[in-house]
Amino acid sequence: MNFEPAREAMVEKLCQRGVSDPAVLAACRKVPREKFIDANLREFAYGDHPLPIGEDQTITQPYIVALMTQAIELKADDRVLEVGTGSGYAAAVMAEIAAQVFTIERYASLAQVAQQRLKKLGYTNIRLRHGDGTLGWPEEAPFDAIVVAAGGPSVPQEMMQQLKIGGRLLMPVGGVRDQELIRIERTDSHTFEQKNLGRVRCVPLVGERGWAEITPADQGAALTALIRQEAEEFTSIDQFQPDRWLKRVGDARVVLLGEASHGTAEFYRMRARLTRELIERKGFTLVAVEADWPDARLVDNYVQGHSSNLTEWAQHSRFPQWMWRNREVVEFVDWLRQHNQHLQSGNGKVGFYGLDLYSLQASISSVLEWLDDRFPEAAQVARHRYACLTPWQSDPAAYGHAVLTKAYRKCEPAVVERLLVQLAQRSTHRFNGKKAYLDALVNSRVVSNAEHYYRVMYYGSAESWNLRDQHMFDVLQTLLGDTPGAKAVVWEHNSHLGDARATEMSIRGERNLGQLARQAWSNKVYSVGFGTHSGKVAAATRWGGEMEIKTVRPSHERSFERLFHETGMKRFSLPLRQASTELREQLSHPRLQRAIGVIYRPETELASHYFHADLSRQFDEYIWFDETTPVGPLSNRHDLGPPETYPFGL
Ligand code: SAH
Repeated sequence: MNFEPAREAMVEKLCQRGVSDPAVLAACRKVPREKFIDANLREFAYGDHPLPIGEDQTITQPYIVALMTQAIELKADDRVLEVGTGSGYAAAVMAEIAAQVFTIERYASLAQVAQQRLKKLGYTNIRLRHGDGTLGWPEEAPFDAIVVAAGGPSVPQEMMQQLKIGGRLLMPVGGVRDQELIRIERTDSHTFEQKNLGRVRCVPLVGERGWAEITPADQGAALTALIRQEAEEFTSIDQFQPDRWLKRVGDARVVLLGEASHGTAEFYRMRARLTRELIERKGFTLVAVEADWPDARLVDNYVQGHSSNLTEWAQHSRFPQWMWRNREVVEFVDWLRQHNQHLQSGNGKVGFYGLDLYSLQASISSVLEWLDDRFPEAAQVARHRYACLTPWQSDPAAYGHAVLTKAYRKCEPAVVERLLVQLAQRSTHRFNGKKAYLDALVNSRVVSNAEHYYRVMYYGSAESWNLRDQHMFDVLQTLLGDTPGAKAVVWEHNSHLGDARATEMSIRGERNLGQLARQAWSNKVYSVGFGTHSGKVAAATRWGGEMEIKTVRPSHERSFERLFHETGMKRFSLPLRQASTELREQLSHPRLQRAIGVIYRPETELASHYFHADLSRQFDEYIWFDETTPVGPLSNRHDLGPPETYPFGL
C-alpha cells in the first residue's frame, strides 16, 4: 500500500490547523507514521487521532506532535530530551530536525519495539533508554529542549534544572483527564518564563515526580460497590418503573436517547418505552431520529394517519435495514400511530422527523415540487441553482472530489433556502407552521449542507462530522421553534448525543449534537447514554456489505462497559447528573467506551470502536444491558450510506 497520498493529506491538514514551521512540516512529510503502529492498524495511520500501541498507551495524534515540535522551536544543532517514547514517532520527527534526541520510556516492551523500529528506519541520532523519565536524564544534561509527552501534576524541578540557558521545555500539566500544555523557557540560571499553549489530553505521566500507578484492580472493587449502590436495577424493559426516571428528567424540553450500536434490539425497545412515557406523561410533541428527512417524512405520514402503511418507507428508505427498518422501530411507530389516532388533527399529534443530511436527491425533488406548486418562477431559479448538482445526485461524493480538484465549479445551492424564506415572508399566504413549508425549508437546508458536506469530506473527518452534527442540531432547533411548547425526544447514536467535550472527539476538533444542545439549552436537555458488555449485534463488515449477525466481543478491561459488567447487575439505569460527588468523580476518570455503528469489525475493535470518555460529563444518565440481542430486520433490501466516515462511521 502506498501511504504517500495519505501522508500528504495529513500534512495539508496540519497546515490548515495552523502548523506553519516548514521544518516541522517537512519532518512530518518524511517520517513514515504507518511504520510506528501495528500492521493491522496501518490503514488508520494518517487520521488525526491517537492509536493504541500496547500497554494501554497511544501514539500521539499527528496534530499534537506537530504542534509540540513547532512550539519547542528546534534548531539543527539542538540536543533534545523526550520523556515518553511510546512508539518513537515523535522522537523520529524531532530527530529529522535536531542534532540528537534522547528519549526515555517507562514500559520495557514499548522501549524495545521502538528501539528496533528506529534502528531499522536508520535513525542514528536517537538514544533510547528504558526507565522513569520524570527525573530527566542527568548524565546527558543540559538540553536545548525537553518535551514531555505525558501529562503530570507539575513540572519536575529536576527537569527544569537540566535545561540550558535559552532552553525550552514543553509539558502537559494538570489532571489525569486533561491538561494545559505548558511551555517554559529558561532565560537565565534562575529565571524561567512560562506560557500556556492551550488544552490537551495526554496519557498520564507515571513515575517518581508524576502520578502514582493505579492498578485496575484497586479502582475496580470500590467503584463497582458504589455503582451497585446508586444504580436502579430493573428486571425487564416492560417491568421498568419510570417514575423516578421521569422525575429526574424534570422540565427538560429535549431528551436525548442514545445507543451504543445501531443494531441492538434492547436499545430501541428501551428508547421506545421511555419515549412513550415522555409523550403520555410529559407532553412531548415530537420524535427526531438519525435518519434522512424525506425518509422520516414517510414514517410521519403513517403516524399522522395520512398513509395506511409503511411499505414505501420499508422499500425505499436509504438507511441500512438494521438502523431503522427493523421490527423494533415498526413496533414503536405503530404505537405512535395509535396514540395519534385519538387526538385532534394537527393538534397535539406527535410528529416523527429525520435530522440527517444524506438525502440530496430526494430533498432537491421535494424543494422543486413545493415551489412548482406555488411559485413557478422561483422554481426556475431553484432548478438553475440545483442544475450543477444534478449530475452528481447518485454519487455526491464524486462531486466533492471534482470541486476539490478544480475539475468542476462549486455549486451554491444555499441561495434557494434564502429564496424560500423570502417568498414565505412576502407571500399573503401563511406558510409558517405548515408542514409542507417546513418540508421545503428543511430540504433546502439539507441540499445546501449536503453540498458543503461532500466538499469538506476530503479534508478529513472532523469538518464533515461537525457539519453533519451542526445540521442535525439546526434542524432540531427549527423543529422546536416551529410550534410553541414543542418538546423533543431525539434517538441517535451515543457518539452524537453524549457531550463531545467529555470525549476524545474534542481532541480531534469534533463537536456533536449533544454538545451543541447542552451549550444552547443547558439543563433543559437530559441526555441518556446506553451500553452493553456482550451479546450479538446486527452490523456490516464494510460499507455496502450485507447485514450480518455478529458476536459482540466481551468489553475491554479498561472500559466503562467492563466496570458495569463487574457489578453483576444485568439491567440498570444509573443517574449521573444526580449521582453522589464521589461516583461522579470516579466516573470522570477517562476510560474506554465502545461505539458500534453501521459497521462492526471485532478484529480491530480497540482501534476502530473504542474511544476515551469521561462518563460523568458525557451523559446525565446511563442505561445498561449486560447482554444484548440484534434487531429484527424487515427485509433484505438495503442501500448503504457514503463511506466517508469509515470505519468510525456511526
Ligand atoms: N509521543 C509518543 C507517545 C506518547 S504517549 C508517540 O508518538 O508514540 C506517552 C508515553 O509516555 C507512553 O508510552 C507512556 O508509557 C510514557 N510514559 C509515561 N510516564 C512515563 C515516565 N515517567 N517515563 C517515561 N515514559 C513515560
